[in-house]
Order: sequence, then C-alpha cells, then structure tokens
Amino acid sequence: MVEQHAKGTGGAKRVLLVGGGHAHVAVLADWIRRGPLPGARSVLLTPEPTLRYSGMVPGWIAGQHEQGDGLVDLVALAARAGVELVQDRCVALDPDARTVTTANGARIAFDFASFDTGGEGRGARLLGADPRLLDVRPISAFVARLAALPAPAHVVIAGGGAGGVELAFAMRNRAGAGTPPSVSLATGAGGLLPGFAPAVQRRTARALTRQGIAMLASDVRFESGAVAAGGQSLEPVDLVIAATGSAAPGWLRASGIAADAAGYMAVDAQHCSISHPHILAAGDVAARADRPLAHSGVHAVFAGPVLAANLRALLDGHTPRRAYHPRPHSLYLLNTGDGSAIASYGSLSAEGRWVLALKHRIDKAWIAQYAALARGV
Ligand SMILES: Cc1cc2nc3c(=O)[nH]c(=O)nc-3n(C[C@H](O)[C@H](O)[C@H](O)COP(=O)(O)OP(=O)(O)OC[C@H]3O[C@@H](n4cnc5c(N)ncnc54)[C@H](O)[C@@H]3O)c2cc1C
Repeated sequence: MVEQHAKGTGGAKRVLLVGGGHAHVAVLADWIRRGPLPGARSVLLTPEPTLRYSGMVPGWIAGQHEQGDGLVDLVALAARAGVELVQDRCVALDPDARTVTTANGARIAFDFASFDTGGEGRGARLLGADPRLLDVRPISAFVARLAALPAPAHVVIAGGGAGGVELAFAMRNRAGAGTPPSVSLATGAGGLLPGFAPAVQRRTARALTRQGIAMLASDVRFESGAVAAGGQSLEPVDLVIAATGSAAPGWLRASGIAADAAGYMAVDAQHCSISHPHILAAGDVAARADRPLAHSGVHAVFAGPVLAANLRALLDGHTPRRAYHPRPHSLYLLNTGDGSAIASYGSLSAEGRWVLALKHRIDKAWIAQYAALARGV
C-alpha cells in the first residue's frame, strides 16, 4: 500500500512525517488551518492512533484527570489535514535513498521527511531487567500497564528529573490506592532536578519530605534479583518506575545520518539535519548542533510550527529559513499530586493550588485546540 503510495504520486512531492509527537501535531494543525502542502502527497507514520500528552499523566495517576484525557486524535487530525496515516513504526532510515522501512516490512519513499518519534526508554539498560520494572517510555504503554497493575505497597522511582519527581508525587497520591503507597525517589548522582534553580530544588525537597517520600541520592539497580541503591537493599519493592530519560532510537544510530554523541539526529536552528537537509527533526529525537537544548515537551511543542514553515519552504524549492529560538527560560509546572504544584521559571519559583490550576488550564487548552481541530470547529 505504501509502496503504491510512493510510486503513484503523479509527480507530486512525497512528504513523510515519522511519529505523531508533540511537534508533528503542530504540523498537522498548520496543514488543517492553512491547507495541505500544495503539490504534495503526505503520509504520517505512527504506531498509535493517538498521542498521549505526557504533562497530564501525573495528574491522571493522582486522580485529577481521567485515563482518556490528554489524548490527541492523530487519525482525525491526519484525515482533516489530507494526510494518509500508516499505523506502523519506523525501524530503518536510509537518508540517501530517501526511504524509511516499517516494522511490517513496508518501504516508504519520500522527498522530504520530518522525524518526531521521541526517544526510547533505557530503564532496563540502566537498572537491569526485572518483571517489576516499568519504564515511562513509551508513555502510552506506561499508562496502560500501570492502569492494569494491582496497587503497589512500595514504589521506587528511578530518576530525579522533572518526570521522576512528578511521578513520585503522583504515586504517593495515587487515586483509589486506599493506603497511600510508600514511595522512594532515587535521584542518582545527578541529584534532585538537575539544571533547575536551587530555590526550585529546595521547594521540591521540602514538598517530598512533607509528603513522606524518601529521597535517595544514589542509582537504583536490580542486583541478584533485589532492588538496591548505594549498596543497600530497598526490598520489599512491588514496582520500580524508570524515569531515567530516553536514549536515541537504534534505527537512527544505524542510519548514518549526522548525530550527536548520544546518537540523536543533529539538526541546525531550522531543525534540518546537518548532513541531509531534506530531513527535519524536532522533539526528543533531535539534538541541536548549534546550541544545547534540553529534551522536553516544551521545546517539541514550540519547534512544531518551525517544522511546518520549513517543510513548506522546501516544497516551494526554497532554503528553510525559520529558526527555533528558545526563550531564555521555560516555564515548568511540577504537579505535587496533593492539589498543589511548584512553578519554575529561571531562578524564580512559586508554589500553591493556584499553580496547579494554572497548569491544568494550560494543559487543557493545549489538548482542546487539537480536539477542536479534529472535530473541524
Ligand atoms: C511523566 C512525564 C511528565 C512529563 N511532563 C512534562 C511537562 O510537563 N513538560 C515538558 O516540557 N515535558 C514533560 N515531559 C517530557 C516530555 O514527555 C517529552 O520531552 C516529550 O514527550 C517529547 O516529545 P516528542 O514529540 O519528542 O516525543 P513523544 O511525545 O514521545 O512522541 C513521539 C511519538 O512518536 C511515536 N513513535 C515512537 N517511535 C516511533 C517509530 N519508530 N516510528 C514512528 N513513530 C514512533 C510515538 O508513538 C509517539 O506518539 C514529561 C515526561 C514524563 C515521562
């Protein structure tokens, strides 16, 4: 089917979006609002029919949202954008031949492609394999597995970044858990919220202590079948959640496209590959070659319109000019699971129920804009 698509374009340029992540939904939105790319046939390759908005997952665990909230309907968006949706995943990229191979063995040819697949979980690699290990990536599988698990009595969260911190608070306040589970947050040598201002780190540490969440400044590992940190056993443990960041996909590393030292696709300020400018990328799968840029949903979201503009330029035969200039600071709102949240903006921090209300407002507005586009209103 896809081969046919690739061949039967009647001279139209073939544009391939790989992954329906936080940046690509903005590309689909652009094509819905401004009309599809003139003279192009477009395909969205996605293993799932929806995108789960990670920012609302801790709120779901804490009972602030339903499980079905925080989903973007990729099928409806693609249909409205005039894009063929192929439900499959990319397993290989040949940037010179301009093809992508899918898990089902289809080969999709493209003239221009854009990647927004996120990274891959690396919990098993860092902690070791164990049936109690639950990686937050991919986030949709995480939600499905967590929903199906019996309520744990003792949970260990591995990873002291924003995701790990929010999940520690969320699990401590897990909806319908009866007796709240005991929660340990192992931050590893990087400590609590690396890269955040000391005021935010202090506030968060106080909130963790207030809620009875133990903090461990060492790495968690499965050693001889037991959960251990800093040489000490943490048993009995029912569940270990790995929020240890993501790794570059193996197929990207194998593709030969320019990558940073960690294997992420190296892109310029216009989010074009520095070795293959007809290929773009944004979100966690990309690494800016011109400056450091944290892997976070905020940057994926803001880079989306840049991808949209630069894909249009490429199709028009122009050099992509639209650059993504991140603001000096990003606003992070950390849900503490107990009806409150901590705000972080550069060196500034704040805390309270109003911060959570603000977070809910921003998150729901983001989801609502895509729901409206999907409905055609
Ligand atoms: C619990 C938690 C809370 C978070 N909260 C925040 C927050 O509040 N703010 C913030 O800025 N960041 C937050 N983050 C980080 C954020 O989730 C990521 O940085 C963000 O999801 C990256 O977006 P992305 O578009 O790169 O990838 P994703 O959102 O992961 O989307 C990638 C898409 O690509 C698809 N895909 C994957 N592999 C393939 C493949 N091989 N072929 C085709 N498609 C593929 C996936 O199905 C998915 O739909 C949080 C992370 C966690 C774990």
